[in-house]
Amino acid sequence: MNKIEHIGIAVKSLEASNDLFAKLFNTPHYKIEEVASEGVNTSFFQVGVNKIELLEATNPESPIAKFIEKRGEGIHHIAFDVDDIQAEIKRLEAEGFTVLNRTPKKGADNKWVAFLHPKSTNGVLIELCQDIKE
Ligand code: ZN
Repeated sequence: MNKIEHIGIAVKSLEASNDLFAKLFNTPHYKIEEVASEGVNTSFFQVGVNKIELLEATNPESPIAKFIEKRGEGIHHIAFDVDDIQAEIKRLEAEGFTVLNRTPKKGADNKWVAFLHPKSTNGVLIELCQDIKE
């Protein structure tokens, strides 16, 4: 793994949270993107070299809706940048981690993404992401 690509934060209202985090970071979000397959609306902030993703549920079945129901708003996942997501999935499975989707999905911000089950990572939802090269 190369570095933390971004940190994902689950929020109830993207609109209200965009204002809040813009004040906190002293910079506005640079994009909003819906990932319909995941039932989420996302927005992204660049804070120095770091990236923060806010996630809002678009329907009650969304994993974000369920997360907020159970645990409230807050840090949802940590995403790591990888060069070869398929190789990384294989490596992590061999190490005994539970990969939630063995076939990478198209995530927000032009990435292939895969998630590790938090039960296998001390309660931390880990996202792997690889840049999609057109
Ligand atoms: Zn993410």
